[in-house]
Amino acid sequence: MFSPEIETIDRKQLREMQLERLKHIVAYAYDNVEMYKRRFDEIGLKPSHIRTLKDVALIPYTTKDDLRDNYPFRLFAVPMKKIIRLHASSGTTGKPVVCGYTRNDLDNWSTCIARVLSMAGATDEDIIQVSFGYGLFTGGFGLHYGIEKLGATVVPVSSGNTERQIMLMKDFGVTALVATPSYAMYLAETARKMGVIDDLKLRLAITGAEASTPEMHESLKQIFHVFPTENYGLTEVGGPGVAGECREKAGMHINEDMYYPEIVNIEENKVLGEGEQGELLLTTLTKEGMPILRYRTKDITSLTYEPCKCGRTLARMSRIVGRTDDMLIIRGVNVFPSQIESVLMGMGELGKSYEIIVDRVNYMDTIEVRVEVLDANLLTDYSKLEELVARIKHNLRVVLQIDVKVKLVEPFSIKRAEGKVKRVTDLRKK
Ligand code: ADP
Ligand code: ZN
Repeated sequence: MFSPEIETIDRKQLREMQLERLKHIVAYAYDNVEMYKRRFDEIGLKPSHIRTLKDVALIPYTTKDDLRDNYPFRLFAVPMKKIIRLHASSGTTGKPVVCGYTRNDLDNWSTCIARVLSMAGATDEDIIQVSFGYGLFTGGFGLHYGIEKLGATVVPVSSGNTERQIMLMKDFGVTALVATPSYAMYLAETARKMGVIDDLKLRLAITGAEASTPEMHESLKQIFHVFPTENYGLTEVGGPGVAGECREKAGMHINEDMYYPEIVNIEENKVLGEGEQGELLLTTLTKEGMPILRYRTKDITSLTYEPCKCGRTLARMSRIVGRTDDMLIIRGVNVFPSQIESVLMGMGELGKSYEIIVDRVNYMDTIEVRVEVLDANLLTDYSKLEELVARIKHNLRVVLQIDVKVKLVEPFSIKRAEGKVKRVTDLRKK
């Protein structure tokens, strides 16, 4: 464990620490960020009204629009002189979302990452290849400095040039990979094609930045011979390192000394209890550069406060089941792409790449899944093909409650992404 005193803290003691920090950050945001002062004043809320952790519910949400409206630096709580790093992520539309970090923020961020790496089983003996893009994106530099803090060797290869990545992995004796799960999968497939899997020393794949499924992790394990873990974060609250899986793979431990998580039902404006699924809100408890209160992540998950078998007492969030805004509504039914992925990845005949095309024909929603088969010969065997398509359709129907059109395509015919994949094309939005 990187910070045992925090990671195994008594929960009562943790709540006291969180309350102290919450009171501080609320007053700090009120005093230093014009938007928060205005928001609080509008509803007559004073920082001194926050007396217990439950009182966090009095604070208005912060949204992506707030970040856009205050672009680029108006949510910063310190003069620019104190900001020593900027990152940004592509916004859903228009301007990017910006985050500014003070020296302390960077130090805390690296601590969070070092914890997440060590949860996955990484140590200062590992050689860790970072295949996240280096640049404004939080992933590359975020993981980079966390790896240094852990004391492992960092290989900052960044994204792109897949065959070269594999050559370096082999030549440098890389033991751990940091990548998006889809890119990790692509690296694995390519390494297998190059016939070098057995020459690799790889033992860990630390994945994040996009959704993955247990089936995907299982495939990584089998093809790449790695122990895959997942981690979670977002630029608005600083980047990756909010939470990560330990070796138990029973949810992602949240760095609760730095982030206060809540699950809410937005429509009913209600904070939900342990185990209930809803939108994750995050409040930064230590950020100096850009404190954020109750950020609406749009990510749907649930929390558990049960101590973990690994010995950590930090709360765990479940795998993200979808975003409130990537949820597809197909003929009135809510469909999460992750549900489709689970079905496809669970079927041995299928490859790891797929796309989902949603359209509207004669006012009716249609949804088509195109997925690669593992063995191209299958595409010429008509009866086998028909049987497989029928089975996929059946499995999708069981999970989604709707009929999905299925098209099987040749191995490697779907374009691979080197960063985040875009699996869904929604032609209805045209
Ligand atoms: P990053 O991609 O570095 O995490 P962004 O700000 O670009 O940061 O994107 C954040 C969003 O990415 C999150 O709100 C979430 O929807 C998604 N995301 C990040 N990590 C995961 C994960 N482990 N599982 C599912 N979605 C994730
Ligand atoms: Zn654990």
